[in-house]
Order: sequence, then structure tokens, then C-alpha cells
Amino acid sequence: MKHELVIYNTLTRTKELFKPLNAPHVGMYVCGPTVYGDPHLGHARPAITFDILFRYLKHIGYKVRYVRNITDVGHLEHDADEGEDKIAKKARLEQLEPMEVAEYYTLRYHQAMEALGVLPPSIEPHATGHIIEQIELVKEILSNGYAYESEGSVYFDVEKYNQKYHYGKLSNRNLEDVINNSRTLDGVDEKHNQVDFALWKKAQPQHIMRWPSPWSEGFPGWHTECTAMGRKYLGSHFDIHGGGMDLVFPHHECEIAQAVASQGSEMVHYWMHNNMITINGQKMGKSLGNFITLEQFFTGNHKELDEAYSPMTIRFFILQAHYRSTVDFSNTALKASRKGMERLFDAMKQLGRIAPAVDGKVDKTYVDQLVAKCYEAMDDDLNTPVLISHLFEACRMINQLADKQNTITPDALEALKEAFRIFTSDILGLRMEDEGSGEREAAYGKAIDLLLDIRQKAKANKDWATSDLIRDELAALGFEVKDTREGVTWKLNR
Ligand code: ZN
Repeated sequence: MKHELVIYNTLTRTKELFKPLNAPHVGMYVCGPTVYGDPHLGHARPAITFDILFRYLKHIGYKVRYVRNITDVGHLEHDADEGEDKIAKKARLEQLEPMEVAEYYTLRYHQAMEALGVLPPSIEPHATGHIIEQIELVKEILSNGYAYESEGSVYFDVEKYNQKYHYGKLSNRNLEDVINNSRTLDGVDEKHNQVDFALWKKAQPQHIMRWPSPWSEGFPGWHTECTAMGRKYLGSHFDIHGGGMDLVFPHHECEIAQAVASQGSEMVHYWMHNNMITINGQKMGKSLGNFITLEQFFTGNHKELDEAYSPMTIRFFILQAHYRSTVDFSNTALKASRKGMERLFDAMKQLGRIAPAVDGKVDKTYVDQLVAKCYEAMDDDLNTPVLISHLFEACRMINQLADKQNTITPDALEALKEAFRIFTSDILGLRMEDEGSGEREAAYGKAIDLLLDIRQKAKANKDWATSDLIRDELAALGFEVKDTREGVTWKLNR
């Protein structure tokens, strides 16, 4: 099947036919998390959106190199270059080494992404592992005259850049708007202009994360990492750069300026952005009390949540909206999504039980049309809600077949199973979850603990027969029981 994939390019503000620069190879870069806190819903949406793009591009035959970075230095609290480094601040508050903070939350992020069915990217570079590349980028921009050094820091000269190029082209604004909307700070300022952004910051004496550079001991500005690492792994011109809409300005705007100021041309062909998530109609924020981490969703452990919502329910819910529309999380909406997903999986289970009939009324033409409609939805800027609605229609038909109100030919049945496998599992990345498996695991654990308590009591009573029996039977089942000074420990070797 020939695919004409159309995607919305934020830069041109139009839908465009996707034409890779170097087919069948596709390079895509997505801004990953700043690892200073537990992953939350705001992390789930871009990860899932670009996971769908990654899966779909591969499915239609491209060889995709997907780079998603880990920001572990340089992201200051307020936008570009104000406040404290987010990771350094967390490290200071918790008396940890900054890399401990980054490592811990990177692991938490990976665990949450795996639960959500998000495939790992091809390369996951860390900003701290690419300080040399970032320093090189800053040197290039300086030598081309679009940056200046001030008190050991280096700033991008936005006004000078804007004389020749358009600063603001991605976010559709001009320099006056940016100037009028930027805050003026009291006191000394190292910048020539408020709109200038940091490429390199000199570290204050108390700042722990620092590296030597030609200008000072310091650290890179937040925007430099994506330009430097995108170019390193995908080349000076690559296909897709993605991220959340909140990154369009200033982060991606600055990335464009850095690319042009360093290499004389833009790096990215298509810019793609997912829209934001609200909770009960409100923006999500720590101060608003509606900040819910993914783990809280998975366990139901938050006052705003009626119950636990499984990772696949969250994934399905996100996919039921087009990535460019907003998504509002509420208990009602999540429960509806869980029901919808169950309907889909029930139909798939029924598919396995349906007996075909050689003279069945539903034939291969029906399935071919269904598949064509599903691809059409995906080719139209990854329209997952429309794809899901086609699958729901097919579910109705499957229910008729299961109720023996309709019949299907053997080849149509096989094709229908294959279509469901491709669209639900390969492309949407949904997998059936074992209902309540977590609770069951917890119950097993309690039962083992109980047996071991009985064994301890038997030992205390010198009832060796009982204590040996429990140990031997557990060992036969694969449980390794150890008596340590701290008490009895066990694990299941499987
Ligand atoms: Zn980025």
C-alpha cells in the first residue's frame, strides 16, 4: 500500500505531505523530560504522541532514528535564564548529588513510559554528556557575530539576528511583540537586551554543576542542548522536531535561531507540537493542587481521583483526542475511556472464538475497506480518534458475528484479526492488561509472608518437621528463602 502521510507543520501553519530528506531514512528529534521530579500527565502526552509517529513511520516502511533527550542540566526555573537550575535546586533541598537526582528521575520516567507502552527512542542523549558539543555550538555562534560575552556568560544577540532573519517565525510573532512581553529585571543586567537568551552561564560560587569553558566555569543554556545533540545524531538537516506546544516559545524559537546563526541554515524540516492537558478544565500546576503524577493515576492515590486508572486507560484516553487538540482529564472521561478500551479488547477476544463460514456474508472486501479507512485516518496527520471510531464500528460487526446474527468468510476473518493486531497493537501500541494483576501479586506476597511466620513459630517451638516442610515446599515452587540477621527474606526465582 502506498502511503501519502500528511502532517501539520507548525512552521508553515499548514498540513504538508511528508517527504523525508533522505528516504527511507527519517530523523526525528523530540524534547524529552527535565529530570527533577516524578513523571506526570504533562510527560505522557508528548511521549505518546511521538511514540505514535515513531511507530507509524516504521510501520509504513521508514527506517527511523528517533532521538529524545534527557535534560539534566541548564533548565532554569523560569523559562530561559532566570532562577536556579531545576535539578541543582532539588539536589540542594534533598542534600543529594545532582546526578543522583537526574538518575533517579530518569529511571522513574523510563518505568512510567514502559508502563504506558511508549517505545524507547533509538538514542537518548543526556545534556551533561554533550557539554563539548554545546561549547562548540556557542563558539560558532560567537564567531559568526550573533552572540556576545558578558561577565563570563555568553548571550545570543536577538536584535542583530533579527536584522537579517526572522526571530519569532515559529511562534508567529515579531521582535516588537517579544520585547513588549518580556520582563525587565531590576538592577544590573549582563544582557544588552532583555530578549537575549543565554548560551552559556557563568556559575555562581554555590552552583554545583559546572564545567570549564573558554568564557568561565559554568553550564550551557537550556536551548543549546537540543540544537547540539540534534545535529550530532541526526545531521545538520533533519526531518522532524517535536515537543509540547509549550516549547514553541521560547525553546524551539531559540533552537531555530541557534541553528541559523551557527550553520547559516535551518536544521529542521517539519516542526510538530502536541497540545496541552488540562485537569477538570484547569491548567495543571503544583500550586493549583491538581498536579497528579503518573504513579498516582496508576494507584489512584490522589484526592482528585475516584479510583486507579491503568496505564493503558491513560494511553487510550490520550489517543482518543487528536494530538493537536486539548485534552481534559476528569474521572468521568477516564471511566468512559476505560469502557471504550474494554469494548475494543472484548471484540478482539471474541474474534478468536468466531467460527468462519465458507459462504459468509461478510467477505474480504469489507475488511479491505475498513483497513483503507484506518490508514486514511492515520495518514491525515495521525488522526487517532478517527481511527479508533473505525475500530469501534468494526467491534459492532464482531459482536454480531459472535451472536451468530451474521457470518464471515475464512479469509475475511483472518484479515480482520490481522487488521486489529496491526492497528491496536502495532500502531496504537495498546496491550491487554491483566486486570488486577498488581493486587494479586500483593496477595501472593502476603501469603508467603504468612507461611514464613508459621515457619518461624514452628522453629521457636522446635517443630523442625513443620519448618523444614515449609522451606522445602517453597523451594520446590521456586522460592528462595534466606535466614539473615535482619530476619527472613524471600524471593521467587523465575
Ligand atoms: Zn529541547
